[in-house]
Amino acid sequence: MPHAPLLRFTDVVPLRTEVAGWRRAGARVVLVPTMGALHAGHLALMARARALGQRVVASVFVNPTQFGPHEDFSRYPRDTETDLALLAEAGVDAAYLPEVSGMYPEHFSTRIEVEGLTEGLCGAFRPGHFSGVATVVTKLLNRVQPDLALFGEKDFQQLLVIRRAVRDLDLPVEIQGVPTLRETDGLALSSRNRYLDADERARAPRLHAVLSRIAEGLAAGGNAVPLLAEGHAALTAAGFGPVQYLEVRDAETLAPLERATRPARVLAAAYLGRTRLIDNVPVG
Ligand code: AMP
Repeated sequence: MPHAPLLRFTDVVPLRTEVAGWRRAGARVVLVPTMGALHAGHLALMARARALGQRVVASVFVNPTQFGPHEDFSRYPRDTETDLALLAEAGVDAAYLPEVSGMYPEHFSTRIEVEGLTEGLCGAFRPGHFSGVATVVTKLLNRVQPDLALFGEKDFQQLLVIRRAVRDLDLPVEIQGVPTLRETDGLALSSRNRYLDADERARAPRLHAVLSRIAEGLAAGGNAVPLLAEGHAALTAAGFGPVQYLEVRDAETLAPLERATRPARVLAAAYLGRTRLIDNVPVG
């Protein structure tokens, strides 16, 4: 059966009316928040959403409050028409494209801070980032009112921050993570990969290779300290720099770990030329 055409919403009231109708009819509604510039990793989330619910809403919003003053907000890739075509092809029911002025009206003054989890890793290098993320995701959840929302493990710290905010604030929604989709050479798909030139693109898969090597060493009972030192050296040799962090953390609390005595994750952020890449892998 051909799928119904993609609905497109900019305003929250008609979107809510549509979603409320779906829910009254017994449908499980799944939200997939994105910043657009969609790639196959996003589409894997859409496919998972279709498998888990009867109705799928994808939001496309480049959220200004999660970018620092020297980050890439103004040059972040935007291609709404291509995004809408991809969402239609993926069988998404509704695209939600809010405007910045509607999300952040004059005198907007509330922000959500998730303490602890946001202190290290990306939080240490992107002040205000996770507060911007937690605030916009809370708004999107309140606006769309889905039963379930999906987030990629690619942004592992973000996934944990959102889970915690939803739990702490009693938001009536389930959060699920989706494993990272990678190119065949291991590079995690990302909208920012299009910033890489040919030489950088050839080096970029080393990040995943280094993370995997550390994860294997830990799974074999190794100690993180020498594994991380070796990993740092390998990244530098591959042309990455600065390496902002390369760490082994508890997969639930993000507490630092020296050995994988609990479920663990190896996470990194590193520049390759002007492009900041992040990635992470599970241990075991
Ligand atoms: P973004 O548009 O970068 O904000 O990403 C939107 C959602 O897609 C987030 O939940 C990301 O974690 C997820 N995502 C991005 N890249 C990937 C990938 N390679 N595999 C799986 N999920 C991804």
